[in-house]
Amino acid sequence: MTVPAEADLCIVGAGAAGLMAAVAAGRSMQGNGAPGTIVALDGAKTLGAKILVAGGGRCNVTHWRVTESEYAVNRPAVRSVLRRFGADETVRFFAELGVELKREETGKLFPVTDSARTVLNALLGAVHASGASIIHPARVTSIVRSGDGFLVSGEWGSLHARRVILATGGMALPRSGSDGAGYGFAQALGHSLTPAIRPALVPLTLPAGHWITELSGLTVHAELVLRGPTGKRLVHFANSTLCTHFGLSGPSVLDISRYLLEARDREPGTTLSLNWMPGETPEAADAWLLAAKGRGLLSVLRERLPERLARAILVQARLAPDATVQQTPRDARRMLVDVLVATSLPIEGDRGFTHAEVTAGGVPIEEVDLGTMESLRCPGLSLCGEVLDVDGRIGGFNFQWAWATGWIAGQSAMRAILPAPAPTA
Ligand SMILES: Cc1cc2nc3c(=O)[nH]c(=O)nc-3n(C[C@H](O)[C@H](O)[C@H](O)COP(=O)(O)OP(=O)(O)OC[C@H]3O[C@@H](n4cnc5c(N)ncnc54)[C@H](O)[C@@H]3O)c2cc1C
Repeated sequence: MTVPAEADLCIVGAGAAGLMAAVAAGRSMQGNGAPGTIVALDGAKTLGAKILVAGGGRCNVTHWRVTESEYAVNRPAVRSVLRRFGADETVRFFAELGVELKREETGKLFPVTDSARTVLNALLGAVHASGASIIHPARVTSIVRSGDGFLVSGEWGSLHARRVILATGGMALPRSGSDGAGYGFAQALGHSLTPAIRPALVPLTLPAGHWITELSGLTVHAELVLRGPTGKRLVHFANSTLCTHFGLSGPSVLDISRYLLEARDREPGTTLSLNWMPGETPEAADAWLLAAKGRGLLSVLRERLPERLARAILVQARLAPDATVQQTPRDARRMLVDVLVATSLPIEGDRGFTHAEVTAGGVPIEEVDLGTMESLRCPGLSLCGEVLDVDGRIGGFNFQWAWATGWIAGQSAMRAILPAPAPTA
């Protein structure tokens, strides 16, 4: 399909937020009965790459309970958006499209088919049914004001649109097509960007040869604790933790990554530690060891930890596996407790946007009217999804932000264009 020369609404980016915006705009147009052209342009050859890879190919669409506290920044703004379009609205929206969601133990909601393809196909079908069109690959290279609208351009030519919705995402997984180009468009149209734009929900790296890297492939339930320079606990996450050849990954690590990376820039001296026995204090761990009296250390540790990890921890504490607790001097036992509940992690860095699930930072939310998602800097432009400075933890919260803001942006942008219904006599 070729890009038309004119459109009422042009949505730049057809990922989660852009597709939702297209459905909402298209339905508003249909509801009004007025003719109009809604075009979503996406640079990617394959649409919905992130929806397809999400949740290990099952797409964690949302969470049964979404509140602002699951997001790292701008919580009052998130609350205001979720009040308009929360998890219940998401569940209803997908149910109407025939996508039933099931709740898993973690509270995450997935399609009952366990296939992300179900979600993407339903969205594409809904866009089509709403009368909006998606054109791809059609990468946008510039958006400028033109008359009372915008000129949206790319190698394919130019399109004049009365209104534009920017739904270009952030920089995570750039091969999906989200490479940060949207930030440049936003700036060119008068927006600012947060001082830092960092990968979030990203695996963390340890120095080469660190003992944890030798446990590559091991997954345990563990707690990560971030502390400020004074030792104050800033944030902690207990969840599945994966040791890898480069360092650490898994939900607990991804969740804490954005806080670590931000805190490091702000406050040198922040530290990250790992508790292999989540919830246990040093005192409780010591009491547990002491209660084992004459038993060998390895046999005791194996009660709570996989043998491979137990052996590695004993090596770190410089203790022999068959030494008994009674034979272990107090200082040596303390060292063991320290490794057990507070292994210090000399994190070197992160795996970058290529391996990140979302972006921390972007266009400040204060520059957008939360009731409509319209820009306060550039009338006629709306923004939605990850291009904005909002990021949540693992669990479906990032898609929820994309669905909610996409819905509000699409509906409001189209309502602003459509003629007001004729007054009744
Ligand atoms: C591996 C992975 C797994 C994830 N799993 C989950 C999960 O299970 N649950 C969850 O809630 N979140 C998950 N996320 C996060 C979630 O995918 C994002 O928060 C969400 O996709 C953001 O939606 P968006 O529409 O704002 O941006 P995107 O989905 O990134 O979409 C942006 C679109 O804009 C297009 N685009 C960008 N620039 C241009 C341009 N110049 N011209 C034309 N088109 C352009 C891109 O091609 C893309 O299609 C995951 C992310 C990754 C990377």
